[in-house]
Amino acid sequence: MFIRILGSAAGGGFPQLNCNCRNCADVRAGKPGFRPRTQSSVAVSRDGQNWVLLNASPDLRQQIAATPALAPSRQSGLRTSPIKAAVVTNGDVDHVAGLLSLREGIAFTLYASQRVLATLAANSIFNVLDERLVPRVALNAGQATELTAGGIGLGLTVEAFPVPGKIALYLEDPAAGPSLGSQAGDTVGLRIADAASGAAFFYIPGCAGVDAALAARLRGARLVLFDGTLYTDAEMLAQGLSAKTGKRMGHISMSGPDGAIAAFRGLGVERRVFVHVNNTNPVLREDSPERAEVEAAGWAVAFDGMEIRL
Ligand SMILES: [Zn+2]
Ligand SMILES: [Zn+2]
Repeated sequence: MFIRILGSAAGGGFPQLNCNCRNCADVRAGKPGFRPRTQSSVAVSRDGQNWVLLNASPDLRQQIAATPALAPSRQSGLRTSPIKAAVVTNGDVDHVAGLLSLREGIAFTLYASQRVLATLAANSIFNVLDERLVPRVALNAGQATELTAGGIGLGLTVEAFPVPGKIALYLEDPAAGPSLGSQAGDTVGLRIADAASGAAFFYIPGCAGVDAALAARLRGARLVLFDGTLYTDAEMLAQGLSAKTGKRMGHISMSGPDGAIAAFRGLGVERRVFVHVNNTNPVLREDSPERAEVEAAGWAVAFDGMEIRL
């Protein structure tokens, strides 16, 4: 199984177009020790020929252009694409807007939870994806589904499971109180498995906390790509950029007693990679003490173009 990080940043990317935080200013200035990053998306393939997108970011066109494996094969005709399916984990703009870039008559299968499919169905702009070319398939929680395109199996299965999270910002209902109207299926994690070898990994780019059910699910996994949005819960507050904590945004922090590093300790996850890293996160500064701490705890920080084979 081939796994490629197309985009490793959270919504907004790195640098974010309107941001002058220290990280954004430094990466924009081309200072050493920084890599620009596009918004969160992963491509996965069983055979290296047919690819599945995990989330479709607003930077998808640029990501495809930077990835030779996602270019149309010269042998396959005038209009063709190796992208055969897309799975989205929630309705966030940075995870679904790239679907609109796939409107050029590409035939692929779109997978999401029933809740997220309902959000897409309620937004008529997504009708640009003709359902005859782009069938939409609901993922039932806790059930492995074989990924297919045009009735042909892609050699991969996906299982979606609810994770603690938050509804997309544009769907929040202030009248619903602190939960803002969030329900099961608004944010899911994915387990992607090679149907033949059984090799599997988890993709969880948005997660508000690791509860007992999630910890049990991840125990002993070979690879987890996990929410690395913020280093500390109040990071955006402290930098004067937002009035929201990470928890309010539905994102666990890397550090601290409730953070991801602490939560994964003792779970025996072989390879742990932070994805969906926000531009304010100090780990994006390669010589920072925070970056050193994360790496000392056995985590990697994803970068655009990172390749992993399972
Ligand atoms: Zn996001
Ligand atoms: Zn910034």
